[in-house]
Amino acid sequence: MTLRILYGGTFDPIHNGHLVVALHARDALHAEVSLLPARDPPHKGPTSADAADRARMCELAVAGIAGIDVDERELRRDTPSWTIDTLRGLRGEIGDGVPLALLVGADSFLGLQTWKDWRALPEFAHFVIAERPGFDLDAAMSPELAAAFGPRFTASPRALHSASAGLAFRLRQPVTPESATELRRRIAAGVPWQDWVPPEVAGYIVRNHLYGAAAIPSGHL
Ligand code: ATP
Repeated sequence: MTLRILYGGTFDPIHNGHLVVALHARDALHAEVSLLPARDPPHKGPTSADAADRARMCELAVAGIAGIDVDERELRRDTPSWTIDTLRGLRGEIGDGVPLALLVGADSFLGLQTWKDWRALPEFAHFVIAERPGFDLDAAMSPELAAAFGPRFTASPRALHSASAGLAFRLRQPVTPESATELRRRIAAGVPWQDWVPPEVAGYIVRNHLYGAAAIPSGHL
């Protein structure tokens, strides 16, 4: 059965680092990947884009890419985007037998203990953990995280297809420096930033004046 991967994030905005991770996961694990944009937090900062814009940029970024789509289920909910609730809902739809994985960057994984019911998450899905510059899994995992996940690690993509949940896999994609926080800072500061996002996303940001983007004369995007 095809492995389904959920790649959650605020994607504020989506950038090339996200796409490298999603493409590598798709190819290395023979999986279908869904970007899962989170809904707006209760107190959205002025430098952030709203959920509709974030989702639209995700769609523009993956349009025409086979095996990667956007799942807007968290945007349709009117409660916080707790991953455990999303997984419960999805399992209710697809059943327990389908192999399912959560794709997270190393920084997110290292903060997993702040997630609601984090110890229960592996009952619902595997974890695929992407490398991220500056976050060393071997050195930085807390004793609790290491105890909960250490025995779950596998180096076998095949194993992620054989079991429906419960394993952990380190995705060794080419590391890239992009970060949404730094991207927003560059856009607002007028520092060159377009190379960090697909051209369709850059066009959307400029046309909609997101993140304080200055207008660029027509014909340049
Ligand atoms: P910020 O710059 O604020 O940390 P972000 O770039 O991490 O934002 P998110 O939407 O929070 O954007 O990221 C979604 C997921 O993608 C997270 O699990 C994050 O760890 C991962 N991720 C983001 N950028 C990279 C990258 N360059 N390499 C690997 N993983 C990444």
